[in-house]
Amino acid sequence: MKFAIVSKGDERSNKIQATIKQYLTDFDLDYDEASPDLVISIGGDGTFLEAFHQYIDCLHYTSFIGVHTGHLGFYADWTSDEVEKLIIEIAKTPFQVVEYPLLEVVIRDEDGGEEDRFLALNESTIKTAEGSVVFDVEIKGSHFETFRGDGLCVSTPSGSTAYNKALGGGIIHPSLEAFQLTEMASINNRMFRTIGSPLILPKHHTCMLRPIGSKKTFLIAVDHFAKTYSHVKSIQFRVAEEQIRFARFRPFPFWDRVRDSFVTDDNV
Ligand code: NAP
Ligand code: MN
Repeated sequence: MKFAIVSKGDERSNKIQATIKQYLTDFDLDYDEASPDLVISIGGDGTFLEAFHQYIDCLHYTSFIGVHTGHLGFYADWTSDEVEKLIIEIAKTPFQVVEYPLLEVVIRDEDGGEEDRFLALNESTIKTAEGSVVFDVEIKGSHFETFRGDGLCVSTPSGSTAYNKALGGGIIHPSLEAFQLTEMASINNRMFRTIGSPLILPKHHTCMLRPIGSKKTFLIAVDHFAKTYSHVKSIQFRVAEEQIRFARFRPFPFWDRVRDSFVTDDNV
């Protein structure tokens, strides 16, 4: 089996990276950054997002696992104290794989030129540097509302505990193939009216944003990176065909991670 390691880059993470690399190589596993079967992320959830995007072209055969060197993460859910146990588990392969849904984002421009397609593990957000965003929101080809406000957050189930949660969105179990739309400070008056509640859409339902008026420049973020797009014709969201694969070596139920991160990790 081939493996690769992505480190946050701090001293502690780099040290763990060196240990894992040494031990797994001693166990006759191959270190291969080009086409790894297993990607080990060491750092935080942010590091895991980077590892995911670095290996986004290998999703159909690569599995991911995260070790955290700071606080407990949703993706980085192995502690640095458990590294030896993890090395032994990895060396014993094959491992069990659990898949989580991803969000597909397609951005089209007015010239009808090339479209940009992205996959988000957490979410995509649509904002602007100038005032508020204004667009028609279409669901399954029907006009739903005209949105005016700071922006929209469109998240995956596993991203529902990140930005989405801060916006008052619900937490969705990642076994549900869905995505969620949450508003950022929508303007509601006689001219503009939005639903106000987070919306949860199932697989095969497409949500399309169509800019109206002259405001067609947006700051579009996908996970931890963002880019400004001008002359935007539409932004389309749906559950992606691709999924992310997690290597699972022990049970750590999603709701336990939610509790340990946000409520209490005192289990008595
Ligand atoms: P960051 O500013 O370090 O991320 C903000 C926090 O979100 C960090 O504590 C990060 O954990 C945590 N996080 C990331 N994914 C998560 C998930 N699926 N569930 C729960 N918490 C999660 O930036 P970053 O590390 O590059 O992460 C980018 C993410 O930040 C974006 O995808 C977005 O979800 C989130 N974000 C949140 C807000 C907000 O809550 N108001 C605003 C902007 C962006 P680590 O410390 O382990 O990295
Ligand atoms: Mn971070």
